[in-house]
Amino acid sequence: MQTFAYERPATLAEAVALLDAHGPDARALAGGTDLIIRLRDGTVAPAVVVDLKRVAELAPGIHVDDGRLVIGATTVMTDIAADPRVGRHFRALAEAAAVVGSVQIRNRATLGGNICNASPAADTAPALLVYGAIVVAAGPGGSRRIPIDELFVRSGETTLGRGELVTAIELPLPVWRIGAVHLRRTRRRGHDLASVTLCCGVDEAGVTRLAFGSVGPRPIVGVDATGVLADPGAPAAAKAELMERMFAGASPSARSMRASPEYRLAMLRILGDRALRIAIERLAAGE
Ligand SMILES: Cc1cc2nc3c(=O)[nH]c(=O)nc-3n(C[C@H](O)[C@H](O)[C@H](O)COP(=O)(O)OP(=O)(O)OC[C@H]3O[C@@H](n4cnc5c(N)ncnc54)[C@H](O)[C@@H]3O)c2cc1C
Repeated sequence: MQTFAYERPATLAEAVALLDAHGPDARALAGGTDLIIRLRDGTVAPAVVVDLKRVAELAPGIHVDDGRLVIGATTVMTDIAADPRVGRHFRALAEAAAVVGSVQIRNRATLGGNICNASPAADTAPALLVYGAIVVAAGPGGSRRIPIDELFVRSGETTLGRGELVTAIELPLPVWRIGAVHLRRTRRRGHDLASVTLCCGVDEAGVTRLAFGSVGPRPIVGVDATGVLADPGAPAAAKAELMERMFAGASPSARSMRASPEYRLAMLRILGDRALRIAIERLAAGE
């Protein structure tokens, strides 16, 4: 591992100033479950690591504010999976947080780190896309709010600017009842990134949102507002056509060690159909 300077700022302004001063030579450290591995294998070699754990404004936590559930960027997966408000309103996000890595990983891995690492396989990304999350970022120019779909560029790359940090992820409390589920496929049980990770949400207005990752450079979300996918009685051919349109952006890499493109695309369709069925059932059952 290449040596680096370690900074532990106490305020958000200090953290932003450090990241801004060093630009691409600096990296924020939250739980470290992605960053430490990349420091060790040399795929990143920053001159400065800025630890966020002592930043007062970035203390972990979840609260309701003005019709939104606000999850602090440094909140760990264990706490997200266990939070009753997340479970009640954003069940698929709780399910996604609950399958990240292992107990030890979930106790360290933060929501902010999961999305900022921008892995196409990030398990929370599909649920955040389905629920229309807003990412709150603070930087040298002040604070701004980014729709989550506008955050991801490609693996390891986001639209965050120089010196910008994610401070929170906001989830608008649903106006309509939603049935939703997170599903994924891994090579084996245990600690592996998903070969396909997927979330489907169906609301009582008949809108279906389907988001998926690990089948291309970034996670993707599609919306069907025709009501056909949400309708259990709709013709199978019409549903299949809409599903194919949802999956049109999938472009799995042939170089991945996890699964072939053919396998991923086949699993995407199977998990998509399964998730749609479960989401409709959950909506009907009021779960
Ligand atoms: C054994 C193992 C199993 C894993 N399994 C899974 C899995 O099943 N599913 C899954 O999705 N992930 C998995 N991961 C990946 C990882 O645990 C998650 O992505 C985790 O959420 C990263 O969060 P972190 O706090 O550890 O991020 P860190 O490692 O601290 O940071 C990750 C990246 O995000 C940046 N960053 C962190 N916080 C911020 C912020 N607030 N603002 C701006 N940039 C920030 C860092 O600079 C770094 O580039 C696994 C990792 C390991 C080691």
